[in-house]
Amino acid sequence: MRKLLSGTAAARGCAIGRARMRLPHRLEVEATAILAQDIDAEIARFHAAVAQVRSEMRTLRERLQGALTPELGEVVALHALLLDDPELLTGIDTLIRTGPYSADYALRLQRNRITAVFDAMDDAYLRSRIDDIDHIIERLHGALHSHMSALPGVSGDILVTANIAPAELAQLQTQGVVGVVTAGGSPLSHSTIMARSLHLPLVVGASQALLKVKDGDVLVIDGSTGLVILEPDAADLRAHHARMAQARQDRRQLNRLRREPSRTLDGADIKLWANAETREDASEAHALGAAGIGLFRSEFLFLGRNELPDEEIQFRAYRDVVLAMTGRTVTIRSLDLGADKAERSGLVLGQEANPALGLRGVRLSLARAGLLRTQLRAIVRASGYGPVRVLVPMVSAIEEIKAVRSLLATVMDELRTEGREIAPHVPLGTMIEVPSAAVVLPTFIGLVDFLAIGSNDLVQYLLALDRTNETLEALYTPLHPAVLRVMHEVIRVARRRAVPVTLCGEIAAEPDFVPLLLALGLEELSLHPTHLLEVRQAIRGCDLARLRAAAPALLRARTRAGIERWVGAHGISPP
Ligand code: PEP
Ligand code: MG
Repeated sequence: MRKLLSGTAAARGCAIGRARMRLPHRLEVEATAILAQDIDAEIARFHAAVAQVRSEMRTLRERLQGALTPELGEVVALHALLLDDPELLTGIDTLIRTGPYSADYALRLQRNRITAVFDAMDDAYLRSRIDDIDHIIERLHGALHSHMSALPGVSGDILVTANIAPAELAQLQTQGVVGVVTAGGSPLSHSTIMARSLHLPLVVGASQALLKVKDGDVLVIDGSTGLVILEPDAADLRAHHARMAQARQDRRQLNRLRREPSRTLDGADIKLWANAETREDASEAHALGAAGIGLFRSEFLFLGRNELPDEEIQFRAYRDVVLAMTGRTVTIRSLDLGADKAERSGLVLGQEANPALGLRGVRLSLARAGLLRTQLRAIVRASGYGPVRVLVPMVSAIEEIKAVRSLLATVMDELRTEGREIAPHVPLGTMIEVPSAAVVLPTFIGLVDFLAIGSNDLVQYLLALDRTNETLEALYTPLHPAVLRVMHEVIRVARRRAVPVTLCGEIAAEPDFVPLLLALGLEELSLHPTHLLEVRQAIRGCDLARLRAAAPALLRARTRAGIERWVGAHGISPP
């Protein structure tokens, strides 16, 4: 029966497809060794997973009390007991310690050992009890990867799942999956960014989806509005076809701007850089006439693999992006991972109660021996093939910039001594996304060659609002007087010192925000290529002098409503 489920728009695009509910966890883990120094953290990660499953089982038992037949009740009780089986758990600790192996791989080895014992049993019933062990092992694996599991997809499917990790999206797209609906998630998460990059329609926060949709149902989704239609009727299908036709027409219209400058009505050229996660993004950016890559999120190179990419792997990836940009500058951001997004990155990070405030970004790069050095070597080597800049994420203090600057100089000397062809100068910039960096900017601006405002995190940290918490979505906005004032001050300091400043958060991709960003003094924006032509169109409809004259009124606004009124009054008239 037809049903409407509402979610939040995340990555735009419409799709029609067959629903595929996320399958349970499967244990297909490759052999993964870990470093000796990470053994204790890995054992702790495993025990945290055991504790999580124990509590899940307890809740399950309580919830099912009286509702199960005695046999089923016994099965649930047995599963809970298995978790306390010393054979199962001690064995895994030993494997992690002596391998030393990742918890996942140790789990798999242990499962294989136990299976061998069960397989040798004569009694078919006893043999089949391996299913119980498997159930527990799958749960443990699920807890180790709270939001990861095997995701077999088929072309034409729309995946419906609780949540999705960035690395999984790429895999889905290669399988021909046409869209994703998640019950949780946020339009600002890295998964959303990845989905946009892949042009994969994504609707997040469709809280009813897991309850209402069944495997094989037909879904129509619209990633621009958050609409999810279950079992569409004839009128829905007609509307879907009309939306697709309109999207094709809009695209044709915008495509005329591919070779036009990003110039305001009064003749000011705005530099439009592209954000990129892959070489394909770079090539799309190039075709659309982006000035260069303003943000290459290198962490995507680290995700979805079980070991760290070495210097050679990184170098080739960066070099290929540089080559794809044929002489336009590529800004490569050093690793921006934290405990919440280091899944299968080859980095073993301890559990953190507050990963957004934890060991992440430049802190992590500086804390792990060799991590930043390897990455800087790879980036600098790529500078032998075209202009490259290094961008440092999550900077909160001058000491971090000094440390990176000094390592960059050492690495450049080293590479020169090795006889490598590298650029004479590799500009170094910092993200301004932690409020402390914005506050002390005048004290370190002399140490950097450029700045990039990361509005996604700046809003999160200034307003103390988790950018991935869907329940806070209505509050999470850059249209807050504090955010505008901080951004304006950063831009003012940068302009006074003639240091280029770009803005590379998601608001740069919103055509409606273009007048506001130009009024604040920005002359450079970096955004995903998918939105580049729309933003160019918006720029071409702006009068820069008029907007700058209206900036004081914008900065005087004391409420969100006041800012929204300003935005409404300075809307873009199509050129
Ligand atoms: C930002 O924080 O605005 C940003 C561009 O970085 P990321 O979204 O990768 O955290
Ligand atoms: Mg950020």
